[in-house]
Amino acid sequence: MPRKTYHGSCHCGNVRYAAAVDLSLGTAKCNCSICMKMRIWHVIFKAKHFSLLSNPELMGEYQWLPAGREKSRMHYFFCKTCGVPLFAWGDFPDGRYYAIQVTTLDDVDADELAAAPVKYEDGRHDRFDRVPTDIRLL
Ligand SMILES: [Zn+2]
Repeated sequence: MPRKTYHGSCHCGNVRYAAAVDLSLGTAKCNCSICMKMRIWHVIFKAKHFSLLSNPELMGEYQWLPAGREKSRMHYFFCKTCGVPLFAWGDFPDGRYYAIQVTTLDDVDADELAAAPVKYEDGRHDRFDRVPTDIRLL
């Protein structure tokens, strides 16, 4: 399937973005501590395919430092008004990537999203290449 541009927003509508993604390439659910708490179901893509359409000051940013790491890998953004988490970005050896929370997409077809393959990642153990032993709560 070709890359398609979707629009997303938070619950109150203050934060809006556009992202060009190919959902048929797959989405992901991860068992790391923050993905579990935020019920993240994301799709990852290079930064050039993301556009923020609202004032960046309407968002709060969160970073955390897992034990044993010197630098936060990801920057998480949420709406300061309604609290909905929308996306995160991180810098990797081959550039900056964005991960958007697919449930914040407003104009994606439900059948299309439901048909997108879901990859389960063992982020809790820093093993994004393997499926966690327990995926029941993801
Ligand atoms: Zn909001």
